[in-house]
Order: sequence, then C-alpha cells, then structure tokens
Amino acid sequence: MNVLVINCGSSSLKYQLINSDSEEVLAKGLCERIGIDGRLVYQKEGCEKEITESPMPTHKEAIQMVLDALVNEKTGAVKTLAEIDAVGHRVVHGGEKFASSIVLTEDVLKQIEECNDLAPLHNPANLIGNRACQDLMPNVPMVGVFDTAFHQTMPRKAFLYGLPYEYYEKYKVRRYGFHGTSHSFVSKRTAEFLGLDYNKSKIIVAHLGNGASISAVLDGKCVDTSMGLTPLEGLVMGTRSGDIDPAIMEFIAKKENLDIEGVMNVLNKKSGVEGLSGVSSDFRDLEAAYHEGNERAIAACEVFAYRVAKYIGSYVAAMNGVDAIAFTAGIGENTSFIREKILSYFGYLGITMDAEANKKRGEDCIISTPDSKVTVCVIPTNEELAICRETVALVK
Ligand code: AMP
Repeated sequence: MNVLVINCGSSSLKYQLINSDSEEVLAKGLCERIGIDGRLVYQKEGCEKEITESPMPTHKEAIQMVLDALVNEKTGAVKTLAEIDAVGHRVVHGGEKFASSIVLTEDVLKQIEECNDLAPLHNPANLIGNRACQDLMPNVPMVGVFDTAFHQTMPRKAFLYGLPYEYYEKYKVRRYGFHGTSHSFVSKRTAEFLGLDYNKSKIIVAHLGNGASISAVLDGKCVDTSMGLTPLEGLVMGTRSGDIDPAIMEFIAKKENLDIEGVMNVLNKKSGVEGLSGVSSDFRDLEAAYHEGNERAIAACEVFAYRVAKYIGSYVAAMNGVDAIAFTAGIGENTSFIREKILSYFGYLGITMDAEANKKRGEDCIISTPDSKVTVCVIPTNEELAICRETVALVK
C-alpha cells in the first residue's frame, strides 16, 4: 500500500508518501507560508529537492499542489492518485476521547473538534488539512493518529493535578502528554532492538528535540510523561520554559506589565535554552558556544541536562526500576555531549557510558558499556513511519 502521511500546522504542512510494504519513502516535503504566499518543497526519493513558489491561500491549494507534484509526469512518485491507498493524519490532541488511532468519519471529526480548546493552535489546523484531503480524495480512507493517545494508559495518580477536582470534571484539566507517536515507536523499537519482552519491560524514552518530553513505559504501557495539559510542561526546551513555579507568572506579569497572553508568549517562545543562553534554541549553536566558554550557554546546557536527569530519576522511582533508557529526536540522536552530561548523574544506578559508542549518530545503537546495570541506547524516531503503520493497521 502507498500511504500519504500528512502533518498539518497552522501555516505549514509536512508530507511523506510511504510504501508500507517496503517502508520506503517515495517522496517527501513540505508546504510553507500557507495563507501568506506559498512555497512547496518536494523531493522524490533519490532526487534533488524542488522548490516551487505559488499562492496557497488555504490548505486546500497546498494539498492540491502536493498531489499534483506526486503525480507529475516527470518527477512524480506515482502515476495517478489511484495509487495512494490511504492517508494518515497527525492529530495533536485527542483529549480523553481517543486512546488509539481511528478511521476519520464525520462523527469522529466532530469529536476531534470538541478537543480544539485543549490545543487551539494545532487541532484546528489538523482538521482543516483533513477536510481539504477529504475534498480532494473523497474515496480514500483517512486515519487520525493522535499525539496524546499513547499516554492515555497513565493511571489517575499520574494524570491528575493538585487542583480543585471540578476543573478535571468540568474542563478536563489533566495531564495528557504529547509526542505519543514517537514514545510508542521508540519504546517498541527499544524492546525489539535489545531483545526485551515489551510487555514485561521498564523503558524510559527521552524524546529530546526542539520540543522535548520524557515517558515511563512499563510493560508496554505509558505510566507517566513530562508534558501536561499542553506541551509547555516538563523539560526545559528550545524556547519553552518547562516546569516553573506557577507564581512566577503573576510576578513577571506585574514586573514587566504583561497580560496573560504576554506571559504565555514569554514562557512558550522566549524561554528555554534560548532564553537562558541568549545564543540560540539550537544545540548545534549552543554546543559551539559551550566550547567557547560562553557562561550562559554553559548554564543553559547544564540546566537542560539536569532537568532531564531529574525526570529520569523520578521515572525510575515510578516504575520501581528501569531496564533501558532510550534517547531520541534531534538532540537525543545527535548531541553526544548532552547525553554524556545526563548520564553522569546515574552512577548510583550502575550506569556506565561507552564514550566511543556515544559518538555515533543516526542509527540504533547501545551507548552503555556491556557491564552497565541499565542499557542506554539511541533509537532514531520516525513519527511518519509510525503514522503509516497505524494507518495500514486500520484500513487493511
Ligand atoms: P527535532 O525537534 O527533533 O527536529 O530536533 C531539533 C533540534 O535538534 C535542533 O534544534 C537542534 O537543537 C538539535 N539537532 C538537530 N541536529 C543536530 C546535530 N546534528 N547536532 C546537534 N544538535 C542537533
């Protein structure tokens, strides 16, 4: 089967066409600046990137351009649209309604819409993309794969906040967690790679990208994760603060004369390692500044690694042990000096790092020594492939 995987943002859209039998990516790319002007990046497997500037007033025109590129006579990946058998859509928030992926029907779309206020920036965009696809490919089955679904197995003690219970009852204020497709994919792959029985294992996944989150996966089920009602909670991220004392919000609002939107903007876009370092949110820049002796960059890297280590420690407690720790996503897969910093906190668990193996990047590999009490590995994530697999499982 050929599956088109779509990840729609408010003004952008990423796509991949995957052959689900060989799991080969036939073509991939993105549409940017939707609603502003419009730019399509298209890359057929083994070919150079093509960039086309063309107006994209809405997601519908963007998806039409993607489909045209996919069937283009010269550079297309397939001959006709009939060769696209299904579409898998990333959906950010499924609330408590969706604990697994689902075939998208009108009724399901309405239920997703009811979750919009939990993810006002993301869900409406996901839905617009879905509806545009349905208009252009009315007979092709569509599947929604939720960022939150994998975390729905968390027990009450992990997902409830210490707030008036009525907020949970009335507004569904609770921990949901995000990056679920990645946590699911990487935890399963970790078990497979290490020869563990997934259903009898204790795995901690550290998804460290521009957005970053950690999960504790016990016997194949997520029992805790660091992101909360929104993707702002937990680790210190590229530009997001992660956990802070909630009273800081009022304090900063008064000092800086900001309203609630202004404070949220600071916490989401001006904080994290970028806000701390004043250098960048990108660890390639931070690593360079760190080695140049830039004190604020050093502080940012230390804060980042320390927060990850604290979360890992708390999840060892939550699961009463750990068999494997897996690093993934942009930073987790590529930034060996940060992994080293994080692992330096776990002497008490008997973890020892293999410095040579820790230099590797971009492939499944073990970075702990053979006598380490806990196996530590790097497992590249592949959310598009995970969405493709989920889609095939539901439409086949
Ligand atoms: P992601 O959100 O998973 O795409 O991760 C993006 C982040 O990963 C970037 O902001 C960088 O901080 C980091 N990153 C990506 N590639 C590298 C690399 N080769 N070396 C160091 N950090 C990297």
